[in-house]
Amino acid sequence: MLDILRLSKIYPNGTRALEAFTLSISKGEVVAIIGGSGCGKSTLLRLLAGLEEASEGTVKLRGRRLHKPDPLVNVVFQEPRLFPWLSVADNVGFGLSHLAADKRKTAVAQVLKRLGLSGFEGRWTKELSGGQAQRVALARAIVTMPSVLLLDEPFSALDAMTREDLQSHLVDLWRDFGSTMVLVTHDIEEAIFMADRVVVMRPFPGRILAEVPIDLPRP
Ligand code: ADP
Ligand code: ADP
Repeated sequence: MLDILRLSKIYPNGTRALEAFTLSISKGEVVAIIGGSGCGKSTLLRLLAGLEEASEGTVKLRGRRLHKPDPLVNVVFQEPRLFPWLSVADNVGFGLSHLAADKRKTAVAQVLKRLGLSGFEGRWTKELSGGQAQRVALARAIVTMPSVLLLDEPFSALDAMTREDLQSHLVDLWRDFGSTMVLVTHDIEEAIFMADRVVVMRPFPGRILAEVPIDLPRP
C-alpha cells in the first residue's frame, strides 16, 4: 500500500542523509525503523510526510505519488507540537473542519475518552503535562483515521509508565482501525513490542542494514 522506491535525500550542505531507501509496506502493517543517531530516520519520516522534498526516488500511497503533506498521512513527533492558541478540543478537531460542529464534537470526545482525557476539551495546551500533551497529539493524528500514521520517537520524552501506557493505547488503536504505521524509535524493545517488521538502518549514508520480521503474538 505504501511503496517507497529508491528514496534519497542529499541536504544542501552535501550530507547524504538517505540513500536508495526501498521498502513496501502492506495495509495495516506496523514497521519500526531503528538505528543510531544520524542514520536518516527522521529524514525518512519527513519525506514520507511530504515535509521535505526527496533528492531522488518516489513514495506512493496506493499507487498515487505522495510529494506534499496529505490528509491521509499524519505524523506524531517526539514533542507534541500542539497549537498553543487553541484549546485541547480545537487542537484535536483541527483536521475535522469539514464536519458539522456537532459531529466534530462527538468525534473529538470519543478519541479523548479512548486516550483517557475525557473532560480535557476546554483546557489550554500549556496546562497539560508532557504525557497528556503527547496524548492530545496522538488524538489529533488519529481522529481523522489516516491511512498512514508516522511516529517519530513519539514516546521517548515520556517517563516509563506513561510510555508503556501510550504504547498499549497505540496497539489497541491499531487493532481497531488497522492503520498502517511507521514507527521510528531508538528503543529495540519498543520496536519488537509494536511492530510486524523491524528495519535496521546505518548512517553515512543512511541505508537499510537489515529487515527482520517479528512473528510474536500481539500483547
Ligand atoms: P536520525 O533521525 O536517524 O537521527 P536524521 O534524519 O535526523 O537522522 O539525520 C540524518 C543525517 O542528515 C545526519 O547526518 C544529520 O546531521 C543530517 N541532517 C538532518 N537534517 C538536516 C538538515 N536539515 N540539513 C543538513 N543535514 C541534515
Ligand atoms: P531527531 O534525531 O530527534 O529527529 P535531530 O537532532 O536529528 O533530531 O534534528 C532536529 C532538527 O535539526 C531537524 O529538523 C533537522 O532537520 C535539523 N538538523 C539535524 N541535523 C542537522 C544538520 N546537520 N544541519 C542542519 N540541520 C540539522
